[in-house]
Amino acid sequence: MHIITHACTQCGTVVSANELESNRVMKCPGLGCENVLRFTDLDQADQEHFLDNKASYEL
Ligand SMILES: [Zn+2]
Repeated sequence: MHIITHACTQCGTVVSANELESNRVMKCPGLGCENVLRFTDLDQADQEHFLDNKASYEL
């Protein structure tokens, strides 16, 4: 399965598309990082791929 992740542009902390999609907007989990991550930060293709295959990403 193609795992979709997004790396924080400030600190490089990697979050999964799953987390981004369920929160939509989330503060970066990186230690001391105040960056805000959004599902829409993902590449358009990745967003579409995730939404098309959402069922298979749910644990
Ligand atoms: Zn960060």
